[in-house]
Amino acid sequence: MRLAGKVALITGGASGIGLATVKKFIAEGAKVAVADIDATRAQEAVDTLPEGSAVAVGVNVSVFEEVEAAVQSTVDAFGKLDVIFNNAGIAGGKPLLDHDPAVDYHPMIRVDQDGVYYGILAAGRQFKKQGTGGVIISTSSIYGEQAAELAFSYGAAKAAVISFTRSAAYELAEYGVRAVAITPGRVGTPIINQFSDELKSLFASEQLRNKMTEPEEIANVVAFLASDEANVINGTVVHVDDGYSAF
Ligand code: NAD
Repeated sequence: MRLAGKVALITGGASGIGLATVKKFIAEGAKVAVADIDATRAQEAVDTLPEGSAVAVGVNVSVFEEVEAAVQSTVDAFGKLDVIFNNAGIAGGKPLLDHDPAVDYHPMIRVDQDGVYYGILAAGRQFKKQGTGGVIISTSSIYGEQAAELAFSYGAAKAAVISFTRSAAYELAEYGVRAVAITPGRVGTPIINQFSDELKSLFASEQLRNKMTEPEEIANVVAFLASDEANVINGTVVHVDDGYSAF
């Protein structure tokens, strides 16, 4: 079990990539705080997991005090923090010239960008206090590295996640902390499943093997990145897009 004895905080843990990662981490021996703005669904997820392996934490990642409190709840429940997976996010967008900044820019930035910054800051302080090192994994996107239709705000936030990851690795190395960003392509989660079948088959065709990625396939990589086996992967981006970015 790769994550035996580790304690993780996973944001967006009630659904999709986050929930698959919660399950994988627990299967690998970790204890997990399942943090989500939807506290009810987070608790429902915890209720299906082995007793004592997880706790539900309600958090809005766009509020720093709530993220600090989520870190504290994790430590209260399991005694420490070893890994934070900054994964909570929202998607969507409009053509740039149709934007109302108050609707189409700031809310996205508050969740997908500020939320990751707050997670890195709060977890980084906890890692320093513990003196144990730690791992920060954050969910970017293929759109963090390339332009795409309807992704003006989302792409900006996801690009920031990559920059935060590099800077966090640089600034927190002296405390034994590693930071890695992942860039999923098209993953079959509620964010994507809301679209029409036609659009979903277009999404699948954008990946080299003409299939959408399952959330569990991303979770497998995140578990590896969180483990000591990935100790030399630091301050970088791991593409988990089944070839999307290769062509
Ligand atoms: P999802 O909708 O299944 O999960 C997102 C979770 O985040 C939900 O449980 C939601 O309640 C939670 N959340 C939303 N806003 C929050 C907030 N302010 N505070 C706390 N929790 C909040 O979607 P998913 O596809 O699993 O997305 C997970 C991450 O992966 C997101 O950051 C998303 O941008 C990223 N991503 C997804 C895809 C994809 O194809 N599905 C591709 C690239 C990147």
